Amino acid sequence: MWDAVLCILIIGGFFVLRAVFATIFFLLLIPEGDRCPNCDAVTLRIESRGWNFLLPRMRTSWCFECGWHGLLRNGPLSPTQPLPSSAERQSPRAGGVQP
Ligand SMILES: [Zn+2]
Repeated sequence: MWDAVLCILIIGGFFVLRAVFATIFFLLLIPEGDRCPNCDAVTLRIESRGWNFLLPRMRTSWCFECGWHGLLRNGPLSPTQPLPSSAERQSPRAGGVQP
């Protein structure tokens, strides 16, 4: 009787350990940050109720360059370029070629 219980505990323990190690392994394979794993472009964070509820520490992302969408680990974000001010945007028109 104890042999059967011991056998079930050992086999069940290895089954659970395998699932835990596989989860950790695949979690570490997910890239960190906000770069697309396909084209290395900056991705946009999108809202996905299901994934954000199940994995709140992951970043649901969409790449507008190649259309990839998936999960990324939270990490350092790429620096953004500041938007040109309204004066800089209008300066080429105002200072254009004059006859
Ligand atoms: Zn991409």
